[in-house]
Amino acid sequence: MNDPRPQEHSVRDLLRELFPETHRELFGPHEGDALPTLGLYPVADGRLALVHGDQLAEFTPLDPKGKNALHCDLCHYTRSRSEAALYRVVVAARRSRYVTLCTATEACQGRAGRKGLETLAGRIFPLELPYTE
Ligand SMILES: [Zn+2]
Repeated sequence: MNDPRPQEHSVRDLLRELFPETHRELFGPHEGDALPTLGLYPVADGRLALVHGDQLAEFTPLDPKGKNALHCDLCHYTRSRSEAALYRVVVAARRSRYVTLCTATEACQGRAGRKGLETLAGRIFPLELPYTE
């Protein structure tokens, strides 16, 4: 029996529909590529993709306002305007979360560790996506 798990398939199909570009950048055009389990990945246009298992959320950078220092929500360092950015994450049809993150995400994730990433993922996921019947 070669029974594909339908649940998993529909989630990936949905992700592909919602974030076609990001999906392609992260997973490639081929079905069945290994999924990264947990991490933030830089994608096009300064965006970041948070991946946790088969869940994916897009972080879109916003134009900075004001001159205050920023507090990174992942590694909890205080950063200057040039070292961090405010990102918008669409978590439901009409709801967004705003997250401040270091722009040098690799070093930031290194400081935060897996536990920090899990906490961040816990704030974002699960997305309330517009499931279709
Ligand atoms: Zn950080």
